[in-house]
Amino acid sequence: MKARIWGARGSLPVALNHRQIRAKLVSALEGAIGLDLDSSAKVQAYVDQLGFDVRGTYGGNSSCVEVEVWDAASTEHVVLDMGSGLRPFGGAMLGRYGPGKPQTYHVFMSHLHWDHIMGFPFFTPAYIPGNRIIIYGCHAQLETAFRRQQEPISFPVGFDQLGATIEFRQMKPGVPLDIKGLRVTAKLQLHAGDSYGYRLEHGGRTLIYSTDSEHKLDNAAERISFVDFFRDADLVIFDAMYSLADSISVKADWGHSSNVVGVELCQLAGVQQLCLFHHEPIYDDAQIARVLAETRRYAEITGEAPLQIVSAYDGMEIEL
Ligand SMILES: [Zn+2]
Ligand SMILES: [Zn+2]
Repeated sequence: MKARIWGARGSLPVALNHRQIRAKLVSALEGAIGLDLDSSAKVQAYVDQLGFDVRGTYGGNSSCVEVEVWDAASTEHVVLDMGSGLRPFGGAMLGRYGPGKPQTYHVFMSHLHWDHIMGFPFFTPAYIPGNRIIIYGCHAQLETAFRRQQEPISFPVGFDQLGATIEFRQMKPGVPLDIKGLRVTAKLQLHAGDSYGYRLEHGGRTLIYSTDSEHKLDNAAERISFVDFFRDADLVIFDAMYSLADSISVKADWGHSSNVVGVELCQLAGVQQLCLFHHEPIYDDAQIARVLAETRRYAEITGEAPLQIVSAYDGMEIEL
């Protein structure tokens, strides 16, 4: 399997502003003072060794992850959540298929908060007859949420005007679903209005998608249930919106988790790789890079087995 992040941000999409871009340019050019960058090749090599927070950006689209499960020729796709990152994903699919070749999308919804559904009205493949979109989730209001956001008061194109065939499938937590060798199991998580994590298993590999999920450190039964759910996963994409200090003080009960809790659960569960996800919209690239460095240091101090840690950015690909 391969995970491709199309939207790594939580709560609200954000864009870099002019001050942040200027700060990146100043930082990069200051670092070049005195260097003999007299060719394009030298300039590119210099840029490539800069920190990711200077030469790149963690990005601003809200939650959307594509999981490549079947071979590259397959016209069936797996998607986790439909935040604003779904729009560029749809553009990539349109570029790949053009208008004439039908595709099927299997979409698993963590929950129905706006930052996780807002990309759907802008998903071009939904407008093309012949395409099929199957939306899976554990919430009873699954279909209502998607129809409601396209009512005339909020959006110019109604849900019934979409050309693709759109189906809704109700899932039950703990009851696995099989799609062509891919096994998907949902788990209830603590979040306003409930959210669900997903365990995806295929070809001996396991990916966990667990966002918008608060963990209570003093609840042992809850902790054990998540360790079991994460058990031996190759990759855990984890809601690390807050620092630990924030998550247990000012932002307790806000429905999100921290980098430290992510490390602890992954270490207990024997996970290979942790991907920090659902970044706080007020964090800039430098701050997300600092959180990543701190998280790696924390895992080194506390872990017996190595845990790889990355921070999600729009466009990131992780091979399992
Ligand atoms: Zn969210
Ligand atoms: Zn939410």
